[in-house]
Amino acid sequence: MGFDLESALERRRVDGLYRSRRVSDGPQGAERVVDGRRLLNFSSNDYLGLAGDARIATAMKHGVDRYGVGSGAAHLINGHSRAHHALEEELAEFTGRERALLFSTGYMANLGVIAALLGRGDSLYEDRLNHASLIDGGLLSRARLKRYAHADIDALQALLADAADGSRLVVSDGVFSMDGDVAPVAGLASACHQHDAWLMIDDAHGLGVLGAQGRGSLNAAGLGQQEVPILMATLGKALGTAGAFVAGSEALIETLIQQARPYIYTTAMPPAIAEASRTALEIARDEDWRRERLQGLIARFRHGAQQIGLTLMSSDTPIQPLLLGDSALANRWSEALLRQGVLVSAIRPPTVPEGSARLRITLSAAHKPAQIDALLSVLAEVLLEIDA
Ligand SMILES: *Cc1c(COP(=O)(O)O)cnc(C)c1O
Repeated sequence: MGFDLESALERRRVDGLYRSRRVSDGPQGAERVVDGRRLLNFSSNDYLGLAGDARIATAMKHGVDRYGVGSGAAHLINGHSRAHHALEEELAEFTGRERALLFSTGYMANLGVIAALLGRGDSLYEDRLNHASLIDGGLLSRARLKRYAHADIDALQALLADAADGSRLVVSDGVFSMDGDVAPVAGLASACHQHDAWLMIDDAHGLGVLGAQGRGSLNAAGLGQQEVPILMATLGKALGTAGAFVAGSEALIETLIQQARPYIYTTAMPPAIAEASRTALEIARDEDWRRERLQGLIARFRHGAQQIGLTLMSSDTPIQPLLLGDSALANRWSEALLRQGVLVSAIRPPTVPEGSARLRITLSAAHKPAQIDALLSVLAEVLLEIDA
């Protein structure tokens, strides 16, 4: 039997679940040119406004001058350049860990770590709202996968209390990518300690944003390598470049080098990306004003939203979702905002659970207060238009 792709696509369309791409021009920033129109941009993960930073672009150009474009090989063949190595050392220092290991993407890092550490007979415990790559890593590992209710330490405790053979790993987003709330990392760490499980935190949305000098959600919670042996974070969000890393003990990193297939069987990221990331890391660490400005914008947005009668989800991070429920309704909101020149993504299942479609509004240090006010006034108009 063949595939009836057309009817499956049509069904998606009818259900309001069809996904399509828009073509953007120019760098990421407070504004973005999309399909030829200049829009106010509230849909990137460029939380510190670094993706279009000229100093980082210059570092990348210098990297190209020194190393060329392609790395030409996997890290274990001869693709591991001085640029990659230096970035790993700087990331280890930044996160307060013995070592760090670069991956080409966060998706690959998560597959790599989970599948390298766990196998058949082991158990993996995941928050229900974890990023898809963490779930996929679990499937690849063939470990028993158990999902606990979102941020619910008691539910996790109950699962962990059921004695299981084999190794046990608990994994959570540090900041939940579609909800914006921060995981109860201290509670997770103590549950793991109590039940002899390892803890892994994916801090894709915390690094650069939370903690002293942007050192992430674990730094903010005062937790180190001892309490949370595995930290993963990405370079493509607040740091504005591309790629990801895992940080932890010497033994963890050596194990990944030996065994993480998405590390071993892929071409190393271009060294110029590593050079750009080194500069991005320095800027993210040194320019506290970006985090201060971001916090000010978040407070301004939340206060303004409350005044116009919008109920936001509970989040102190730059991810400020407006929960709508129905996918078609989320699409209507997103389209109405777009007509008024504001770019906000509608996030629908299966990225979020059934019945919890939302607008994912994201703020950036690149925004000006007046742009937050413009967003609020367009949201107020759309609220009236859609309620009518
Ligand atoms: C974006 C993201 C990833 C994937 O990182 P990429 O570098 O984009 O592949 C992994 N985990 C979380 C929580 C993310 O938000």
